[in-house]
Amino acid sequence: MNGTIIEPDLGFIKDLTASGAESLKKCYQCATCSVVCRIAPEGSPFPRKEMVWAQWGLKDKLAADPDVWLCHNCGDCTTNCPRGAKPGDVLGALRKATIEKYAMIRPLAALGGNFAAQFIVGAIVITGLLLAIGHTNVLANYHSVDKNGHLRIIFNNFIPTHDIDKLFAPLFLLGVVTAIYGIRRFWNDICDAAGLGKYTGRNALPSIAPTIGQVLKHNVFASCGENSDRKTPHLLTFFAFIALFITTNWAVFYLYVLGWKPGDYSSLSNPLKWLGNAGAIMLIAGSYLLIKNRKAKSEKQTSSNFDWSLLYLVFFIGVTGTAAEAFRIVGAYAPAQAVYVMHLIFIAQLFIFAPYSKLAHMFYRTTAMVFAKHTGRELKAAA
Ligand code: SF4
Ligand code: SF4
Repeated sequence: MNGTIIEPDLGFIKDLTASGAESLKKCYQCATCSVVCRIAPEGSPFPRKEMVWAQWGLKDKLAADPDVWLCHNCGDCTTNCPRGAKPGDVLGALRKATIEKYAMIRPLAALGGNFAAQFIVGAIVITGLLLAIGHTNVLANYHSVDKNGHLRIIFNNFIPTHDIDKLFAPLFLLGVVTAIYGIRRFWNDICDAAGLGKYTGRNALPSIAPTIGQVLKHNVFASCGENSDRKTPHLLTFFAFIALFITTNWAVFYLYVLGWKPGDYSSLSNPLKWLGNAGAIMLIAGSYLLIKNRKAKSEKQTSSNFDWSLLYLVFFIGVTGTAAEAFRIVGAYAPAQAVYVMHLIFIAQLFIFAPYSKLAHMFYRTTAMVFAKHTGRELKAAA
């Protein structure tokens, strides 16, 4: 008699269990989760099939499954599962496994949920920068008095902005290259698994713009039941990143196109500062509310270190950036500089680990949504 031989990857099951999917074995395939999910498409819905594939340890099949990313972690399936198998949490653990599989630098991916280790790497990088510059001047701002006799703190006097840019520009580009590397491999695998062949990228181009529109509106989140309150803080954090990205490039334009000096645009009357401060406030508020929501639901839904690492990192970036500015404005040069260094460490941490952290969902989920649209598999919520 012919049959399919399934070779479970036991190591994969063990890793999943350690990443928050310890309830996986409880699933008895009743399919309630797929029925209650308000997002899964009608044909071949998730997450029931992913639960059985995960129980069987089908690592490669799950990595090439766009449905793992179409899930928006609403938690409705977890709430309604009669066995307490927490399918929403299992899909979260599967997303982490996918990020690790498509990682360009595996050792960095292994630290995706280890906040302390990531912080140490960030601190080493910034310490290396300070040593390489060799002329960091901790007392420069102590003497920075303007013509009215007021202390005027300019961070560039302490650590030259151009030197920071020489470090952060390559780190940012490395993050972009890493993301493209992961997306490309993921795309090829999902196309291959769907029988479309590996290189169908160009055909999917018309699906990109409507998908980005969907992401900007967050309308899929709106249809979540259990976690519907996540939409607003998620939107705040998302738009905070966009605002801060624009602010950074705006400053680059001042510095490297118009030839301004660092500090020339640090007045609160500059619109660049308005956007930057609005972004920082949205970042703090959004990440704080996301942390609060997760803590409030910790009895029902599991949050792994992978979840917490990114949330706390984003929160600390917002707080240290805002505090450094506040100390600068009131003329407290020593705390301003100390907090500024912390802020740089957190930014370095973000740039180095973003493609291996939960932030990677921005590009993997968007890719899966483009694929779904490209193949006519509309999400229930979007339809
Ligand atoms: S995860 Fe729960 S609801 Fe889904 S099939 Fe398994 S037992 Fe049923
Ligand atoms: S967590 Fe939400 S979106 Fe994901 S499978 Fe469960 S119900 Fe569907």
